[in-house]
Amino acid sequence: MNHQPFNEWIYQDAPLTEQDEQELKAHLKTCPVCQDNDKAWQDVNGMLKSAPMMPAAPGFVNRWQASLADRRQKELRRQVWMGFLILSGAFLLTLALIILFIVLNHSPVSLFTQVFESLTGAWLVFLEAKASITHWLQTIPPLLIGAGLLVFASWCTVLVLAWNLVFRISSRKGIPTK
Ligand SMILES: [Zn+2]
Repeated sequence: MNHQPFNEWIYQDAPLTEQDEQELKAHLKTCPVCQDNDKAWQDVNGMLKSAPMMPAAPGFVNRWQASLADRRQKELRRQVWMGFLILSGAFLLTLALIILFIVLNHSPVSLFTQVFESLTGAWLVFLEAKASITHWLQTIPPLLIGAGLLVFASWCTVLVLAWNLVFRISSRKGIPTK
């Protein structure tokens, strides 16, 4: 059976003329193939037309926007915390390196000997520690102390700023919309 032009007519968007419409209907009655095509096409069209008409659930857009803002804020908070942790880690590392540097440059043997010798009494330990610190402070070049304090102060400033940022973001209820 020849299905043209009926097969084209089934799928075409433009409305058929009265005469073509009649011919198509007549053909559909006698042709199960075109009938199936026509029905399938109408089903698809029906779905396409009805889908956009489905109204969004009430409040859906608002909820979605709220959750988006929430997710953005969580992400921001996470990033700030990550930055803070990295800064803290770097701070501790720097501090450890400074201490290590001081200890290595200041005859650790005598330092440990002093501490071990003083283990017999807490008071002696305290005195020895005090003496050690005094000794350190007297022998460490002032430049080194100055540099160490400068690094320490810089890190404190950075940490305070980071903390400030964390608190400001944590205490904020939501990200203001423009
Ligand atoms: Zn046909």
